[in-house]
Amino acid sequence: MFVFKRRKEREIQTVKTMIRMYCKAHHHPEGEMCEECAAVFSYAAMKYLHCMFGEEKPVCTVCPVHCYRPEMREKIRVIMRYSGPRMICRHPIMAVDHLILQFLSKRRMDRYLRKVKKIRRKKEERKAHSA
Ligand code: SF4
Ligand SMILES: [Zn+2]
Repeated sequence: MFVFKRRKEREIQTVKTMIRMYCKAHHHPEGEMCEECAAVFSYAAMKYLHCMFGEEKPVCTVCPVHCYRPEMREKIRVIMRYSGPRMICRHPIMAVDHLILQFLSKRRMDRYLRKVKKIRRKKEERKAHSA
C-alpha cells in the first residue's frame, strides 16, 4: 500500500501519477504514457534515486540545488502546474503525503542551509584571523 512504501518510492510513484495525468490530458488519452513523458519520468526517477542528499533527499520543489537539466526542469514544471491542483481530488492520499513531505523537506533544508552558512562564516573568520 502506498503509505507504507519508503519515501523515495512514494515520491517516484507520485511523480509518475502526475506525469501520467498530464500525458492523458495532453498526449495519450488511452493507455500508457507517450515517449516524451516516459523520458521525463525516467529522468526524474533517475535523479531521485541518485540524489546527492541520499536518504535525506528533500522534495525537489524545495531543493536549493536543482540538479535537473534546464529543459527537463521546464517540462516537469509544466507537468506539475497542470497535475498539482488536480491531485487533491483524484489522489488525495498521495497529495497529502506530498504536502507533508514538502513541509518536512522545507524545514530540513532550512536547517541544512543554516548549517552551511555557519560553516562558511567560520571559515571566513578563520581566514580573516590568519591574514
Ligand atoms: S533537485 Fe535536489 S532534491 Fe531533487 S534530485 Fe536534484 S539534488 Fe536531489
Ligand atoms: Zn505524454
